[in-house]
Amino acid sequence: MVVDALVIGSGFGGLGAALTLAEGGARVVLCESLRYPGGCASTFTRGPWRFEAGATLFSGFDPGQLFDRWISTHRMEVETRVVDPAIELRTQGLTLKLPPDRARLVAQFEALPGAPSDRLRAFFDHQRRVADALWALFDDPSLLPPFDAATLLRHVARAPKYLPVLPWITRSLGAVLDHHGLAHFEPLRVYLDALCQITVQVSADEAEAPFALSAMDYLSRGTRHVHGGIGALAVAMARAVEQLGGDVRMSDAVRSLSRDGDVWVADTRRGTVRAKTVVANVLPQRLAAMLGRDPADVASLARKVEDGWGAVMLYLGVHRDAKLRPEAHHLELVREVGRPFIEGNHAFASISGLDETRGPDGARTVTVSTHVPMKKLLAMDDAAQGRYVAAVQRALDDTLRARAPELSDAIVHRMTASPRTFERFTGRTAGYVGGVPRRVGLANYQGLWPSPVEPGLYLVGDSVFPGQSTLATAVGGHRVATHALAQAGAALRTVA
Ligand SMILES: Cc1cc2nc3c(=O)[nH]c(=O)nc-3n(C[C@H](O)[C@H](O)[C@H](O)COP(=O)(O)OP(=O)(O)OC[C@H]3O[C@@H](n4cnc5c(N)ncnc54)[C@H](O)[C@@H]3O)c2cc1C
Repeated sequence: MVVDALVIGSGFGGLGAALTLAEGGARVVLCESLRYPGGCASTFTRGPWRFEAGATLFSGFDPGQLFDRWISTHRMEVETRVVDPAIELRTQGLTLKLPPDRARLVAQFEALPGAPSDRLRAFFDHQRRVADALWALFDDPSLLPPFDAATLLRHVARAPKYLPVLPWITRSLGAVLDHHGLAHFEPLRVYLDALCQITVQVSADEAEAPFALSAMDYLSRGTRHVHGGIGALAVAMARAVEQLGGDVRMSDAVRSLSRDGDVWVADTRRGTVRAKTVVANVLPQRLAAMLGRDPADVASLARKVEDGWGAVMLYLGVHRDAKLRPEAHHLELVREVGRPFIEGNHAFASISGLDETRGPDGARTVTVSTHVPMKKLLAMDDAAQGRYVAAVQRALDDTLRARAPELSDAIVHRMTASPRTFERFTGRTAGYVGGVPRRVGLANYQGLWPSPVEPGLYLVGDSVFPGQSTLATAVGGHRVATHALAQAGAALRTVA
């Protein structure tokens, strides 16, 4: 049998694509190599412990946003909670409780000693106008390319909203700070460097301004904690695909992909799938390996990924009586503000809620991550890589002890992970995570169109537009699937 679509991988890009294809009436097979869905945004079990694999804080849950729409349309049993403060940022001599609300955030900066109130207000007003223009594309993915005449008209009507964005294309967030006379207001700089590192994946001085100004809304755009773990949403999305008639196959890795006339043929761990369309939720490097060749477009996407990051992780169990806030919460910890926010000098720690069952005897789990530059890591031989990763893990421990002793003192269980662990579990070549860093340059604006890499073969996930995050990858998967459905013609769209 030839199915309409094969989706390879159930990260949020693959899940978004599979669900949209199934909603559109396509016969879908979703193959995932692991026993559970979600990839970098999954919840995994080790003995009595349940950990978030990577991602821990998610946007897109406000009424009408993509995750909210899917949860209500498919009656998913997924409980989400607003986290307030969304993140507590701690550095030398500075603690900022970052609220999920821009007005309160601005008020907090204005209340700091020596704060330049007028300049801060002008900067955040500028930020709001850029973010409002660009987040609309996430909230309503039908505004994303490809455009039909109706969408083009909607964009023409929206043109004034895009005006604040245009002058800042190919300029950095650091340049925006200079423009507003805020380059030397240290608390804002530290906040922006920390936020940019976890969103656009570079410091404020390197970050492309429109992306970074939009990413500053990450904490206030339907941002939630998923009770019990993000895996609950991934599982619910996979079930929704099945309820629409899709065939979801866990533990069924795709080994190779070839073309037989008009049909794609996938050799999987459990057999063969023949499909008219393939949506590959893998890194470009992995797709090239599956094809056994390196199409030019795939090779150029791969080079962009190689400019990026790996993650070094600590998965911790902490005692239920630890002196921590009872609800799930997030700490962003910086040991020394004068050093780059990577390699354990910066740690993002997410602590599960006391009322979630995540460990034995009511223990809580903590996922801690830090960035490591992959070019530096891969230039080392195996032994040197091992020593480097161990040093980064020690630096993470030091940062936890210095900035979150209440957490560090309560550790009862400890596991570590490196880029190699990500490669082994999620199939991400060499352990590259976090997609393509949004460094200043026009390259950010290439590949906005969901064009196939070859006829009927699409890439989704954080290495392609719109990029990193669970919401972005889900939006990207949804957009590619919408395009593939349109290409496949009305015959597929038997379900409205
Ligand atoms: C440490 C860390 C922290 C993060 N924190 C956040 C956060 O707080 N909030 C946020 O929104 N985002 C966060 N992110 C980013 C976010 O997790 C990712 O951008 C997003 O989840 C990536 O999704 P993806 O669709 O690219 O697929 P991936 O997550 O890479 O999933 C790909 C899937 O494909 C499967 N697969 C691979 N090869 C095959 C094969 N051959 N056959 C079948 N299946 C295959 C894998 O097993 C995997 O399940 C974080 C990322 C990391 C690493």
